[in-house]
Amino acid sequence: MKLSHIEHIGIAVKDLHASIKFYEEVLGLECYAIEEVKDQKVKTAFFMLGGTKIELLESTDPEGPIGKFIEKKGEGVHHLAFAVEGIENALATLKEKGVQLVDQQPRKGAEGLDIAFLHPKSTGGVLTELCENKNKS
Ligand code: ZN
Repeated sequence: MKLSHIEHIGIAVKDLHASIKFYEEVLGLECYAIEEVKDQKVKTAFFMLGGTKIELLESTDPEGPIGKFIEKKGEGVHHLAFAVEGIENALATLKEKGVQLVDQQPRKGAEGLDIAFLHPKSTGGVLTELCENKNKS
């Protein structure tokens, strides 16, 4: 399995627009996309910094994963996403090594990426996402 870089850092926020304002007006980054991912009950906003993105996540449903996270832990860093080549093989390898997978198979995430989460119990408490962009030329 070969990870190439940190694809993005996912940050749970209560108010997407207030957070976008902070990242734009205080940190000077530019939000280049806002997308709702119905499947995960979130609205996302993306910023690019070097080769790494910051993904802000606002829950659209208190019962969704981000809604529950914020209720338990408040706003903050939610997950770390690595770019990987051959996500299916990577998942098979990790499973073989005893890593607990949240997603047995990749599914579609924001920006059309194939994504899969690994359980934080197996990764030292860090919710870890693998992503592969199969659309890139
Ligand atoms: Zn993510």
